[in-house]
Amino acid sequence: MHAGNCCKSDRALACQRWGASPIVPLQRYIMTFAMFRLTPAEALERLRSDDLSSLGADADAVTQRLYPDNVRTYNVERNINYTNVCVSRCKFCAFCRNEDDPDAYVLDESTLYAKIDETVQLGGRQILLQGGLHPSLPLEWYENLLRTIKRHHPLVNIHGFSPTEIVYFADRFGLPEQTILERLRHAGLGSLPGGGAEILVDHVRQRVSPKKASAERWLNVCRIWHRMGGRGSATMMFGQLETLEDRITHLCRIRDLQDETGGFTAFIPWTLQPGNTELAEQPKTGSWEYLRLLAVSRLFLDNVPTVQSSWVTQGLQIGVLGLSFGANDLGSIMIEENVVAAAGTVFRSTETAFCEAICAAGYEPRRRRVML
Ligand code: SF4
Repeated sequence: MHAGNCCKSDRALACQRWGASPIVPLQRYIMTFAMFRLTPAEALERLRSDDLSSLGADADAVTQRLYPDNVRTYNVERNINYTNVCVSRCKFCAFCRNEDDPDAYVLDESTLYAKIDETVQLGGRQILLQGGLHPSLPLEWYENLLRTIKRHHPLVNIHGFSPTEIVYFADRFGLPEQTILERLRHAGLGSLPGGGAEILVDHVRQRVSPKKASAERWLNVCRIWHRMGGRGSATMMFGQLETLEDRITHLCRIRDLQDETGGFTAFIPWTLQPGNTELAEQPKTGSWEYLRLLAVSRLFLDNVPTVQSSWVTQGLQIGVLGLSFGANDLGSIMIEENVVAAAGTVFRSTETAFCEAICAAGYEPRRRRVML
């Protein structure tokens, strides 16, 4: 039996038990199709292929089997960057500032609350809380930030602090990563975004973000968080200076860790936006290359429930096209987004436009209840 044969009542029961998680149909799918798992060499071959239409059709067939009800999801959330001060100075970042730059900031409480209030009024139930690697904020500042948000908005999920930030906190405060995660969870952290993964290959990281956590440390934070029962997403930012082999290595690392922990809820690839950065001379990765990677991700990551299309970097048209190239989720209507915008890429949309675009592509739009 596979997900395509799963009757409605089975699915309803599964969703009830798992809080509407798509994991159950996926597990059935894996049990049936594990023997056909794509090898890294096969994935590389597909990534090199010019036959985009068959690649898209194969990825779409997987998505149809996983989500046969034709529903494609989205969310409403806000990306709150609590500070733009960062010691890492990654070459691809247009957002970071030094502490003494005139436009450096750390959000004050009243600004923060106003942003969350507005998010809730617009129907948002999640905030993505990330920031630069600030050299002088104490750990208690972050704990206090979480506590005060939860006190004012107990129902809002805080999807916060990428593994990169957790590694930085561990080093700066001289504590194990697990202790940092436990303290933040105790203060209100809900789930862990997969930011800072970029390409999980150290020779690529050394070239573009040498001060950032190594691939192994990034993965290990996710491993610890998953073993604590936490959930979170995995990401990939491609089109930097990596090879196609590096992209496949990245996918292998995500799939291997997912085999071990099962803690990734979603995989979200997007392309480098080089505007206003040290990599500005580099050509932007095109939409076909984006769609090819998206489709290979769906085929290769047979153990990750959701693959998300990045309309924030691709625009709504290509974002929606991604729903026919393996993605089952269109991400979020971002009430606020700063990092991609700093690189000169600004796409905005409304919930109505989102739903109309998903409908026009032949799917039923639904705001997701589960957090990714
Ligand atoms: S990408 Fe993140 S870690 Fe790198 S410089 Fe920008 S804010 Fe800092």
